[in-house]
This record gives sequence, structure tokens and C-alpha cells, in this order.
Amino acid sequence: MTQATPIKIWDIPGGIHPPENKHQSTANGLEVAPLPARLILPLQQHIGARAEPVVSVGDRVLKGQLLAEANGLVSCPLHAPTSGTVSAIGPAPYPHASGLEEWAITLESDGQDEWTDLEPISDFRALESAPLLEMIRLAGISGLGGAGFPTAVKINARPEQKIHSLIINGTECEPYITADDTAMRYKATEIVAGIEILRHILHPEEVLVGIEDNKSEAIAAMREAVGERDIRIVPFPTKYPSGGEKQLIQILTGKEVPSGGLPADIGMVCQNIGTLLAIHDAIILGQPLIKRITTLTGEALTHPTNVEALIGTPIRDLLEFAGLQPDRLYRLVMGGPMMGFTLQSMDAPVIKTSNCLLAGTLEELPPPPVAQPCIRCGLCSEACPAMLLPQQLHWFALGKEYDQLKRLNLFDCIECGCCSYVCPSSIPLVQYYRASKSEIRALELQQHKAEHSKQRFEQRQQRLQREAEQKEADRKARADKAARMKAAKEAGTASPDTPAPAEPDVARVTAQKPAGLNAEQKQLKIAAATAQMALKKAQKQVAANPDNAELKAQVPVLEQAWREAQQRFDASLGEASVKATPAPSAGADDETKRLKIEAAMLRASLKKAERAAGDTPTEEQEKEIYALREQVAVAEARLPKETAAKKPVDENLKKAKLDAAMAKAALKKAERAQADNMDDPALQEEVERCRDVLTEALHTLEQAEANTSQPVPERERVDKKPIDEATRQRKTELAMAKAAYKKAEQSLKQAQEANADTGAAQAELDRTKEALNTAAKALAEHMASKETD
Ligand code: SF4
Ligand code: SF4
Repeated sequence: MTQATPIKIWDIPGGIHPPENKHQSTANGLEVAPLPARLILPLQQHIGARAEPVVSVGDRVLKGQLLAEANGLVSCPLHAPTSGTVSAIGPAPYPHASGLEEWAITLESDGQDEWTDLEPISDFRALESAPLLEMIRLAGISGLGGAGFPTAVKINARPEQKIHSLIINGTECEPYITADDTAMRYKATEIVAGIEILRHILHPEEVLVGIEDNKSEAIAAMREAVGERDIRIVPFPTKYPSGGEKQLIQILTGKEVPSGGLPADIGMVCQNIGTLLAIHDAIILGQPLIKRITTLTGEALTHPTNVEALIGTPIRDLLEFAGLQPDRLYRLVMGGPMMGFTLQSMDAPVIKTSNCLLAGTLEELPPPPVAQPCIRCGLCSEACPAMLLPQQLHWFALGKEYDQLKRLNLFDCIECGCCSYVCPSSIPLVQYYRASKSEIRALELQQHKAEHSKQRFEQRQQRLQREAEQKEADRKARADKAARMKAAKEAGTASPDTPAPAEPDVARVTAQKPAGLNAEQKQLKIAAATAQMALKKAQKQVAANPDNAELKAQVPVLEQAWREAQQRFDASLGEASVKATPAPSAGADDETKRLKIEAAMLRASLKKAERAAGDTPTEEQEKEIYALREQVAVAEARLPKETAAKKPVDENLKKAKLDAAMAKAALKKAERAQADNMDDPALQEEVERCRDVLTEALHTLEQAEANTSQPVPERERVDKKPIDEATRQRKTELAMAKAAYKKAEQSLKQAQEANADTGAAQAELDRTKEALNTAAKALAEHMASKETD
């Protein structure tokens, strides 16, 4: 018998021996809590995704009926603990240190406690592992020891993880809590049945049940229930926190689970006593997880005990059952004094992980003393079962140096509280570690999201770039194709004499055709296609009836008809192409156009200036006209040769025109100067010289106009008619009279503006006016006499 063979017990580092206070709740055995009138069933009672309700408000449900289904692999379904009616689905009180509410299904009990149909398994050994695992999953079982990890996931090891040791955790090292102890005392048979089911699923080489030696009755009960089975009941010395999963494995096997690893990594699976009971109920009785054993203890209770309570039972109901003395209650804790948390409300329900309710008095759970500065005593390090450095962890937690905390393996901390317990400075070390873990998890989640967003952004950028490159490639391909088609079209239309191909070539015709066919071309195309179809049809018929001479004779006729139709169509395309070809003159480039426009604009400006100047231009107007003429000449000289060829420019004529214009302007200038100084002989001489120059220039211009092929405007000829000496004399006198009159006008105006005597100025104006009239009359008479001659 294996029980007789002693097994080596290993020790763990650190640990403490706090007052156990377990006896208070073991005196009354295991009781069944009364059926509550209302149950609150949170959808999140496990690690993983929140369950999804499958019932609605107002639905009547039976005991054991599914209320919410698992939402993913790491999730757990939820079942009705009794029969009744769903009265609410929404936020409800939840047992958490924050006091925050959680979504829950509220069930009003009908008092009948009516079961739904159950499907118990009489012989689980007849089933494979998979259906048993599925039954455990559907029963909504999660670890009842505290963490609440879905059991079906935990025991479904990966293929490479050969499980050789099944470890049953009957340690229950936390003070006050006796739920597992009570279960082992009163439900050892069911627990052992649960072990057998797990053993059937996992096929381990050994099964070890670790129980602290302060639970002698439980050890005895388990040994009796195990009997001759190959299951090792292993008592070991009591020390807190031996019940930690990694610590228990180390105690029973001497092996350490690696930092950040799982027991399965070293071939082990560890299960809690309460979980084994739930597995038994699920397989043997067919019942889902709807109840659990919970310790009700604390000096504020007159009847501390262990109860089998329905999941969802309000804590207030259970405490009243245990004889709560509200006036004595100082602090209500869910769990034990080392790892539990203070409840904010008694309205919260018992959930799957609720192993203990500790209703402590002030004397029992006094407020912690005020924390003092660390004295570096090192006691915390000595007490740590995970061999961490609590003092340094505390230091880095204060400074929020998360990298240092991770370097010091903060996440190996099991939050046992040993360090806080021994700290002489009463520093709440565990609270710092919990807070730091939460912050690090939040940061990592944030970083993960940011990284995910970054990846999505980069992928989007890459996709956009790929699309842009593809678009560019498509565009280039289209451009190349268009260029090829254009080249092919030009090649086809540029040579009207290109011989027709010997064989039908639809692609060639298509390539040759202009962008759009006119009505005649369309008809010719249809005719060619029809002729081709008739030819092909005849060829097929001849192939099918090679002896038919009449059909054979049709083929050459049809072929000729097709060739002629095709040639007519091709010819029409060629004509269209020629028609569509732009005339060379129309193909003047942009530069030529620009020059033409520039020259035209200058010419227009010149004409405008000439009109504005009239017959008696001012000096400024003459300058402007002279400059514009030069610009026009330059602009016209810049025009391309072919344009010049159309309208050849006679350089001699051009020069003669310019010389004449310049001579004319010089004479006018000299005449104006003489008008201001009529008595100046030098000015008179200059006027005479300019007249001679102008006469010579006009003569040269006449000769140039006679020699050029360009038509000469009539007006030009009249203007350029040589002037006789008498006419010139009278014109000069008229101009001088005009100038004198203008000068007298100016003098009178100045006298009037100066309020001076205007008599002399007015007299001078009258005199010059009369002289002007005389000169004008003389010129008119002279011209009249010339016409008469
Ligand atoms: S036990 Fe407390 S006082 Fe001592 S070293 Fe650790 S943190 Fe500091
Ligand atoms: S709470 Fe963490 S650091 Fe403190 S003794 Fe326990 S395992 Fe070590």
C-alpha cells in the first residue's frame, strides 16, 4: 500500500506562522444555507471573458438551467442555482475591494427549488477525456480556490505538456478559512471521486494530496476515502503560505515552477478541493456549479460555521444565518486576513471564488498602525516565500520604476502578505505591489494597443503606397499603349499607298481606324464585316462538303467581294486620316503664336497712339509713336521665317519708312523749337535742314515702295507725295502762327492765375489769333489754287 511508504517533504523559503483561528468555524460541521429569496449572479465570476446572458427579464428558469453562456475559450457559463424568475439583468452589487458594481442576472426564487433535467454519468471511465472536459466546461467550473481560472482550460494541457503529477491542494493555509477542511471531513468520498475523474482525464503517473498537518480529521477522512487507491495523502508541517500553488508543488516534489511559468510546464497540474467537489457534481450527478462551501467566521458572528451556499446568495443572508451581531462588526472581509479584501457592502453575493466571509470585530481586525519609514531590517526578504526582495520592490513601487519592478520579478509575488506581516515599520507592502501590478498591466495594455495601432497605420501606409505605385504603373501602361496606337495610326494614315494585307486582319483595321467613324465609314465597315462573314461561312460549308462544286465556286467570288469591301473601308480611313491631319500652318507652335500676338498688340498700340496724336502730335506723343514703330519692326522681325515668307518684308522699304518717320519727327521738333524763338536764325536753319532731310527721306520711301511687291496703301502714297516750296512755306507759317497763338494763350492764362494785368496778354492773344487766321487762310487759298492748277 502506497500510503505506508513515506514521501519526502521539501521546505519552502520564508513563510510565517500567524494565529490560525480555524477552530471557530469547524465546531458546527457543514450546514446548508437557507434558500434565499433573491440571488444575484454576476456574469464575471472567473478569469476571462464575461459570460453572455441567454435569458431575458421575466423568464422562469429551473434549477441548473443555463442563464449565461461562455463567451470564448477562457470564459465560464452560468447556471440558475434555484428555480425562479429572472427579475433583472444589469449592474448589481459585486464582491470586490473597489465596491464597484458588475453586470449580473438577478433571480427571484420561487421557493420550489425545481431542478431542470440532469444527465449524470454513471460510468465516466467509459468516456474519453474530451467529452469529460466538455462536460466540465459546460458545468461552468472555475477554480474555487481563489483565482477562478476556468478548470477545463487548466486541465486541458497542450500535447507537448505530458502531465505526470496531479497535485491536490488541501493545504488551506490562510488563517480562519476552513472550507476545504470541512469539505475533506464531510465530502471526502466525493472529493476522491473528483480526483479519479481527473486522473482518468490526465493519466498522471502520481496523484499527491497535500494537506497541512493541522487538519488531522481531514487527513483521516481523506485517507479513509482513498482506501487502496493509488493516491498519496501527504501531510506536511503547517506554515503559511504553503497553499500557494508553486509553494505546494515545491513542498511535495522539490521542483520549482520557473519564473513566469505554469505547473504544466514541468508536467504538473494542481487542483483545489472545492474544484474537485464541483467536478464530481458535474460528472457523477450531472449538476452544474451552482453551490460551494463557504466559511462564515469572525467574532462578530454568534454561529460561525461552514455552509453549503448557493452561488448568488447575498452575503447579508449568510451572515444573518451565522448570527451576525452588527454592533460588533468592525470589518467584513471576503477571504482570509492575509489575502482577503474588505467588502464595501453586504448586498454583494457569494460567487464561485468566495471561500470565506470573515466578520471581524475591532479587537480581532484592528486598523493597521501608521506606516513608518523602512529601517532596512531585511525581515521582509526572509519571510518572502517567492525569494523576492520586498524592500527594493517597495522602493521602486514608490518611484513607479516599472522596469526595475519587472527586473525584480514583481509578477512572481503571490501577494501572500508575509512581508507586510513581519514588517516592523508596518508598511503595507502588498498594497504597493498590487497597485504597481495594475499600473504595469494597464501600461502594457496601452502599449499593446498603441503598437497595434502603429502596425495598422504602417500597413495602411504600405497599402496606399502599393496602390499609388499600381496606379502609376497602370497610367504608364495606358500612356505607352496610347503612344503605340497613335504611332500605328500615324503609320497607317501617313502612307495612303500602303497595300492591303493579303489576309483578313481585324486588329489592323481597328488600329488604323480613327477615334470616331463617320456614318459612311461605319457603313463601309459593316459591309466589309458582312462580306468577311459570308466568305467564312462559305469556307466552312466547303470544308463540310468538299465535293460540292457549286459551293467551291462561290468562295473566290466571295473572297473578291470581301477584299473590295475591305479596301473601300481602309481607303475611307485613309481619307479621314488625311482630312484629320492638321495643316502645317495650323501647327504653329506656341512660341510662334506668342510672337504673332505680341506683334499684333504692338501694331494695335501704334495705331491707337497715332489716332490719339492726330495731325499735331506733341513731343511726347511723337516719342511714343516712334518707340512703338521700332518695337513693331522688331516684333515682326522676330516672327518665324515661314510666316515672313507668307508676308515678305522688304528691308529697304522698312528702312525707308523708318527714316521718313524719324525725319518727320525731327522736323516737327525743330519747328516747335523755332515757334518759341522765331527770331533765332540757328533754329530757322535747323528747320530748313530737317525739311531737306525729310524731303530726301520721302523720296527714298517712294522709290522703295515702287520697288516692293507689297501693295502700298493709298493713304501712304498721298502722304508721301512731295511737297512744293510754296506749300511748305505756308504750312510753316501756319505752324508758327499756331505756336504763337498757343504761347499767347499760355501767357494770358498765367496773368489771370497771378491776378496780374491781362491787358497786354489779351492784346497779344488777339494779335496771334488774327495772324493764325491769316496763315490758315493763306494755306487754304494756296492749296485751292494748286488743285485748280
Ligand atoms: S521589513 Fe519593512 S522595515 Fe524591514 S526592510 Fe522590509 S520594508 Fe523595510
Ligand atoms: S507578498 Fe510578495 S513580496 Fe511579500 S512576501 Fe509575499 S510573495 Fe514575497
